[in-house]
Amino acid sequence: MPQDTAPHAQLAPNLAEVRRRIADAAKAAGRAPEAVTLLAVSKTFEAGAVSAALDAGQRAFGENYVQEGVAKIATLASLREELQWHLIGPLQSNKTRLVAEQFDWVHSVDRLRIAERLSEQRPLGIASLQICVQVNISGEESKSGFTPQETDAAVLAVARLPQLRLRGLMAIPEPAEGEAPSRAPLAAMRKLFDQCNAALSAAGLAPMDTLSMGMSADLETAILEGATMVRVGTAIFGARDYAGAGKGLAR
Ligand SMILES: *Cc1c(COP(=O)(O)O)cnc(C)c1O
Repeated sequence: MPQDTAPHAQLAPNLAEVRRRIADAAKAAGRAPEAVTLLAVSKTFEAGAVSAALDAGQRAFGENYVQEGVAKIATLASLREELQWHLIGPLQSNKTRLVAEQFDWVHSVDRLRIAERLSEQRPLGIASLQICVQVNISGEESKSGFTPQETDAAVLAVARLPQLRLRGLMAIPEPAEGEAPSRAPLAAMRKLFDQCNAALSAAGLAPMDTLSMGMSADLETAILEGATMVRVGTAIFGARDYAGAGKGLAR
């Protein structure tokens, strides 16, 4: 599949630059660089780009579309032990089985029914499926996710499902102009995260350790506001061409 390494020549320097941005932001926030995990968002990019990024030391990859992700997981089956696959895009109930069987993490749990199905369908004998509950922090009509008011109850319910391990919260804030409007939803997520952890603790349940927010354009701000996992696509792989996306086609 990776016929030619030349198309991926920019990957290692891009990854190094993103890691430098993460370390600088963590330092500025008085946090350890290791406190922030980089998730490389490989959606629309071929399996060869993923294996090239793995060669550059990147292990965690995010996919938006179930079919495309499953196709890449199959192509890279021989590297399965080294790779960690995260679903970060919308998940419909008719696709939960594939995800429960193939992925390591799901960040986009936006309904309890989806979490219940993932728990029922996660095969016994393998690690629990790691879960982030998605929050519609900007209250956008078009975005999925629980409202902030619903999130407490959602995390308590997910934490009790047997084949899942609740890890955190995920958000895709609405892009905003200017410093304060960009920071507000990220700060609100941090507050909600702490509030949910207090509720989990009061119920005798394990706390969450993951706040998944921040992308190519806003990872510094997200880290300043407490992100522990940033999801970065463009700054690593370059601009996306959506022609084959969602069809499981490797470009
Ligand atoms: C595509 C995507 C990203 C990465 O976005 P970039 O701006 O390319 O870094 C992160 N999170 C989600 C949910 C995405 O769909």
